[in-house]
Amino acid sequence: MNIDIRPTTTPRTRPTGALGFGIHFTDHLFRMDYVDGKGWVDARVEAYSGATLDPAASVLHYAQVVFEGLKAFRGADGGLRIFRADRHARRFARSCEKLCIPAIPEADVMEAIVRVVEQDASWVPDAPGALYIRPYVYATEAFLGVRPAKAYTFCVILSPVGAYYERGFAPVKIWVEREAVRAVKGGVGDAKTAANYAASLHAAFGAKKRGYDQVLWTDAISHEKIEEVGTMNLFVAFENEVVTPSLDGTILDGVTRDSVITLLKARGVNIVERPITLDEVKQGQKSGKLKEIFGSGTAAVVSPVGTLGFEDGDLTIGDGNPGPLALSLFDELTKIQRGDLPDPHGWVRRLEG
Ligand SMILES: *Cc1c(COP(=O)(O)O)cnc(C)c1O
Repeated sequence: MNIDIRPTTTPRTRPTGALGFGIHFTDHLFRMDYVDGKGWVDARVEAYSGATLDPAASVLHYAQVVFEGLKAFRGADGGLRIFRADRHARRFARSCEKLCIPAIPEADVMEAIVRVVEQDASWVPDAPGALYIRPYVYATEAFLGVRPAKAYTFCVILSPVGAYYERGFAPVKIWVEREAVRAVKGGVGDAKTAANYAASLHAAFGAKKRGYDQVLWTDAISHEKIEEVGTMNLFVAFENEVVTPSLDGTILDGVTRDSVITLLKARGVNIVERPITLDEVKQGQKSGKLKEIFGSGTAAVVSPVGTLGFEDGDLTIGDGNPGPLALSLFDELTKIQRGDLPDPHGWVRRLEG
């Protein structure tokens, strides 16, 4: 892929104070367009700027859009590293296929990410911050008929973010959702696409109003089986096994989920992918066999769950504090990401800058 580098002449104001998440954006973005009959053209790194969108652009009406989320890190040695970009590019390709968006070669997606991150390397914050990378592709064709569009734009934007846990490794309170449905088998729950998030907002807002941080989705049919949490996959640690719901088409194949599974296997932990019911969790808490529950996702890395909320009251998980497994996985994963621990699985790529 031939990328035209067009450095900005008007650098953006650098943020001061706490970075938060997804608030600030860097000087440049990567952009390229899909033209019917020509394919992907005009790959460029250019000044961060808006693009005009026709009011009839099909993304605005029928949500033909997919995205990714990954991170680059600044190590204690000053080195710039990106985490598992190849795996994110592969999932991006699968999401595109599901949404009938023309394929972008995985190598081109990776190259686009690397070039724009290297361009804005000076924006990558030191630990515990990181650079959140958001690749996305959306349908731009001005057409109100329902069919896959004939024009698209692919972008990669970058956002310097602060520590996810600004007030320490705090356990989250999760509302167990047993009415609303995020995804059903045969739908698009396993694609990283905007529609899944639009479908989640109402229930998430209801949970917030009740005092919970996020929603735990249950299966669409029986509402007895655990699926995933908002933007995270879920792990349940019992005395003799750690369980995470199997990938059955309704949940996202999380890169952090895969990393956690790999790290647990390397430790010799009995990690099992299988369906898991709420009843099992409740019984486990009663018998003392349930040790901890935690979520996994790029933004939080590992997030301990302290409380599950049900209609008939709250269930405290373990003693309500972050468990040793969540703590040690968070520590191991973040150290690999920053180059403070060896990278035996080949997850980290050094970049220039
Ligand atoms: C992105 C996402 C996750 C987490 O995936 P990672 O690759 O670990 O960041 C989990 N669930 C949903 C619905 C997501 O969109």
